Amino acid sequence: MSADCIFCKIIAGNIPSSKIYEDDEVIAFHDVHPKAKVHFLIVPKVHIESLASCGARHQALLGKVLLLAPSLAKEQGLAGFRTMINTGRDGGQEVFHVHLHVFGGDQLPKT
Ligand code: 5GP
Ligand code: ZN
Repeated sequence: MSADCIFCKIIAGNIPSSKIYEDDEVIAFHDVHPKAKVHFLIVPKVHIESLASCGARHQALLGKVLLLAPSLAKEQGLAGFRTMINTGRDGGQEVFHVHLHVFGGDQLPKT
């Protein structure tokens, strides 16, 4: 846990969130400022700054995060979805605790 990390505070239950999944390693909740009709975040509980800070020891955890996307998307009623991981300030990352965005609920624009 990092004391000044907003996602660590959500994981600890100190800030409320609209949670859709939780186990001992991972939590998922709706984004507070959704950029699509459905927009949720899948977040490992361990504080890792970004994808660029991940190493081989995180391989299984990252695989778990990625594989949760289709099952949670299905639970949310999404026929299709888009995933995104912003990495570093130049990559648009604002919260420095690694997380996977999942967007859906509409026909998404082409990238
Ligand atoms: P990033 O830009 O770091 O990839 O994405 C951070 C995301 O976290 C943004 O989409 C932002 O709306 C979301 N976010 C920031 N603070 C909170 C919060 O307190 N609660 C929730 N549910 N989402 C948050
Ligand atoms: Zn954190």
